[in-house]
Amino acid sequence: MKILVINCGSSSLKYQVIDSESEQVLAKGLCERIGIDGRLVYQKAGLDKEITDIPMPTHKEAVASVIAALTNDKTGALSSLDEIDAVGHRVVHGGEKFASSVLITDEVISAIEECNDLAPLHNPANIIGIKACQELMPTKPQVGVFDTAFHQTMPSKAYMYAVPYKYYEENGVRRYGFHGTSHSYVSKRVCEMDGCDLKNSKIVVCHIGNGASCSAVLNGESVDTSMGLSPLEGLVMGTRSGDIDPSAVEYMAKCDGLDFAGVMNVLNKQSGVLGVSGVSSDFRDLLAASAEGNERATLAIEMLAYRVAKYIGAYAAAMNGVDVICFTAGLGENNAGMRELICSYLGFMGVKIDSAANNCAGEECLVSAKDSRVKVYVVPTNEELMIARDTAEIASK
Ligand code: ADP
Repeated sequence: MKILVINCGSSSLKYQVIDSESEQVLAKGLCERIGIDGRLVYQKAGLDKEITDIPMPTHKEAVASVIAALTNDKTGALSSLDEIDAVGHRVVHGGEKFASSVLITDEVISAIEECNDLAPLHNPANIIGIKACQELMPTKPQVGVFDTAFHQTMPSKAYMYAVPYKYYEENGVRRYGFHGTSHSYVSKRVCEMDGCDLKNSKIVVCHIGNGASCSAVLNGESVDTSMGLSPLEGLVMGTRSGDIDPSAVEYMAKCDGLDFAGVMNVLNKQSGVLGVSGVSSDFRDLLAASAEGNERATLAIEMLAYRVAKYIGAYAAAMNGVDVICFTAGLGENNAGMRELICSYLGFMGVKIDSAANNCAGEECLVSAKDSRVKVYVVPTNEELMIARDTAEIASK
């Protein structure tokens, strides 16, 4: 089957066409500046990127431009739209309603809309993308794949906040976790690489990109993860603070005369390694600044590594041990120094990195030493492939 995978944001839309049998990407790209002016980036496998300015007042024109590029006579990856069997959509928040991917119906759209309050920045855009695809491809099955679904196996002791119970019962206040598609893909893939039995395994996945989260995957199921009600909780990220005392938030708001929206903006957009270093949210800029002696850049790097190491330690306790630690996403896949720094805290549990093996980037590799008690791997994440797999499975039923 050929699956169109869509990841729709408020002003952008990323897409890939994946052949679900060969698992090859046939074409990929993105629409940017939707609602502003509009730009299409399109790349057929094996060819150069094409960048075209196309008016995109709404997401509908963006989807139409993707279809036109995919079926274009010269560089189109498809002879006609008939070749697409189904469309898979990334949906950020499925609340407690979705523990797995689903065929999208009117009821499903309403249920996703009910989760909008929990993900006001993401879910509305995801729904706009779904509706645009339904309008332009009304006969194709559309499937929703949720960032939160994989973590729905967390036990209540892990997902509850210790606040009055009514906030959970009446308002859904609890930890949901995100990056679930990535944690699911990486935990399965690392087990294949390791030859371990997924149903009898203890894996910690560290997804460290601009957004970052760790998860404890016990016997193939997520039993804890570092993000919470929103993606703000947990690790130190590019611009997000991660864990913080709520009293500090109140105090910061008072110091600067900020309202809730103002202080949340500081925590989401101006904090993390950007806030601490004052240099950048991009790790490569931090490394460069640190190499030039910028102490706050060095501090930001150390804070990030320390927080990840603490979560790995916590998840070792949660699972009563760890067999495999796996790094993924921009930083986890590409930065040997960060992996080494994180693992330097984990000697107590028998983690030993092989520096030569760790000198890898952007590819699957085993980076721990032969005598390491815990195996450490790098696995590039592939959320689009997971979405294509789920979509093909559901659409073929
Ligand atoms: P997201 O998908 O959350 O936006 P990514 O997974 O793309 O983020 O990760 C982005 C982060 O990964 C940035 O901080 C970037 O600097 C870092 N990164 C990407 N490539 C490298 C590299 N080769 N070395 C160090 N850091 C890298």
